[in-house]
Amino acid sequence: MNKRNEMMDRPVIDKEVRDYLRTSQKQLSGALGEIEAWANERRVPIIPHETVTFFRWLLPILEPKEILEVGTAIGFSAGLMVQSLSSDCHVTTIERNPDMIEKAKINFKKMNIENNVTLLEGQASEWLEKLEDGSVDFIFMDSAKAKYYDFFPHCYRILKQGGVLAIDDVLQGGTILDEDSEVPKRRLKIHRKLNAFLDIVLDHPAFDSSIVPLGDGLLLITKREKVDFSYMLPTDCGQ
Ligand code: SAH
Repeated sequence: MNKRNEMMDRPVIDKEVRDYLRTSQKQLSGALGEIEAWANERRVPIIPHETVTFFRWLLPILEPKEILEVGTAIGFSAGLMVQSLSSDCHVTTIERNPDMIEKAKINFKKMNIENNVTLLEGQASEWLEKLEDGSVDFIFMDSAKAKYYDFFPHCYRILKQGGVLAIDDVLQGGTILDEDSEVPKRRLKIHRKLNAFLDIVLDHPAFDSSIVPLGDGLLLITKREKVDFSYMLPTDCGQ
C-alpha cells in the first residue's frame, strides 16, 4: 500500500489538471460514493476519480457480461463496474489480503451486489491458472505491479477475442522512464518487471493497445488474435 501511496503524490499529468478531473466530473452517490470517500480519507488504495469517470463511460459502451478483476481491495472498483452495467453482469474478483477481504464482503452487502460478485480469496497466480480460456469479456488488473508480467499470459488466455484488458498504474508516476541506475533499490524489481512487460505488449501485432494517462497510467488492450504467452510464465511456483 505504501508504494502505491507514494505514487499517488506523483501525478503523471499537471496536478491542477488532475484535481480538475477529480472534482469537476460527475460524483458518485449512495453507498459507492460513501465507500470512495471513506477510502480516500484513509488513503486506502482505490482507483482515482478520473478513472472512476472513465469506467462509468467505457463500460456501458463495451457491455461486458463476465468481468474479472485482479485486486479487489475493499471492493470499490468491483462495485463501480457492477453499478455501471446492467443487473445481469457478473464480476469475479481476486484478493489475498484478509483485512481487505473482510471489508470487501461488508461493502458488497452494503451496495447490495452480492449476487453479482464472486470473491476469490488467495493468491491471484493460483486462481488465474484455474480460469477457463476465453471466458471473460473485460479484465481489470490492479494488483502487485511486479506481477503484471507473470499474470498477463493468463489474463490474455482468459479473455475472449475482442475482449478488453485494462491494467492500472503502468507509469509509476513517470518513473517508468528512469534508467535502472536512477531507481531506488526497493523499487528496482517493480521497475524492471513493468518495463519488461511494457516492452512486450505495447507494440504487439496481435492486439490494439493504448496507455491513457488517467491516475498513474491505465493501459488498455483489445485482444484481436489468440497468442500463447506462456513463455512469460514463471518457471518456479512464484505468486
Ligand atoms: N481495484 C481496487 C484497488 C486494488 S489495490 C479498487 O480500485 O477499488 C490492490 C489490491 O491487490 C490490494 O488489496 C492487494 O492486497 C491485492 N493484491 C496484490 N497482489 C495480489 C496477488 N498476487 N494476489 C491477490 N491479490 C493481490
